[in-house]
Amino acid sequence: MKVPFLDLSLQHRALRPEALAALAATYDASRFCLGKDVEDFEKNFAAMLGYPRVLGMNSGTSPLHAACMIAGFKPGDEVVTTPFTFISTVWGVSYTGATPVFADIEAGTFNLDPAKFAAAVTPCTKGVIVVHLFGQPARMDEIMAVARRHNLFVIEDCAQAVGARYRGTSVGTIGDAGTFSFYPTKNLGGCGEGGAFVSRREEIHTQARHIRVHGSDRRYYHDIVGGNFRMDGFQGALLNVKLPHLAAWTARRQAIAARYLAGIRLADVILPATPDYGASVWHQFTIRHPRRDALREHLAKHEIGTDLIYPVPLHHQKCYASLGCGAGSFPVAEQAAATCVSLPIFPELTDEQVEHIIASVNSF
Ligand SMILES: *Cc1c(COP(=O)(O)O)cnc(C)c1O
Repeated sequence: MKVPFLDLSLQHRALRPEALAALAATYDASRFCLGKDVEDFEKNFAAMLGYPRVLGMNSGTSPLHAACMIAGFKPGDEVVTTPFTFISTVWGVSYTGATPVFADIEAGTFNLDPAKFAAAVTPCTKGVIVVHLFGQPARMDEIMAVARRHNLFVIEDCAQAVGARYRGTSVGTIGDAGTFSFYPTKNLGGCGEGGAFVSRREEIHTQARHIRVHGSDRRYYHDIVGGNFRMDGFQGALLNVKLPHLAAWTARRQAIAARYLAGIRLADVILPATPDYGASVWHQFTIRHPRRDALREHLAKHEIGTDLIYPVPLHHQKCYASLGCGAGSFPVAEQAAATCVSLPIFPELTDEQVEHIIASVNSF
């Protein structure tokens, strides 16, 4: 039985008539940059979050960039974040000329360890970027307490955690700014690039709205330095078609994860932690094993696709070599990168495929 790591075509085939009708309406109305489709999506997405204000943007990187601009990060400032994430988490810090400072993760959830975060704070620290990695909310109470003590700007990178809640509150609405990605492989994916910015603070929302359109509220008048972070009309239209399905897709991901957690019985395997403060929306199901590469080969022989997310922690990326974080700087993140392997987890997987994956892991 063949099981791909991810197959987006199944979802797109199922939604084809609706999706193409929505895209055709946008095409016919020539609503290409922001416009009604994006506004509708912003309202619908805000309702899903239980939240009043959302701004559609053109990627998940753009709202992170905008958040760093609004935070006022500048050369000499330090911004703490996790070294075990997608590179995009820290780009905004570098774009503003500030310095990313990494703090190690906790082993169970792969997320920023609040104690390590607290220890990384210096008089130069101006902010923190929290990532809810693989769909699992991070420990926001502890992180917010450290941030408040030091008056830090808190950015939540929710690219992998759309719809996840921390103690009942949607992730992205706890810190000063929250960011989402609708890259096609995310739990809610567009047909191209997309993202969103949220903030519970009105003045931050207004700044982000202006930054999105060249720092302007009125055409050809530019009060602040901005960029072009607008969402496409096509993305808004497609995301409006997909959003009503998100809850069911998330429930299916959670059902698959529950099967994995109950069924995987391999010696030395470490399963992802499931803390009770907030359920994961399972963007990835990532296990660890000391012989990870051999396990991957074994699964490939059983025609099961897997992926390494992430093979190299950020402090070991060439682009951040100048930070001088050698081997052993962040041992938990380095251990995770060396031993993790992600199994297929997407809503269209059948129970038979999931059972085949479990049996194949257990036979290693
Ligand atoms: C996908 C992702 C982003 C944003 O990526 P884009 O490709 O710009 O949409 C940011 N952070 C994390 C953790 C991600 O997984």
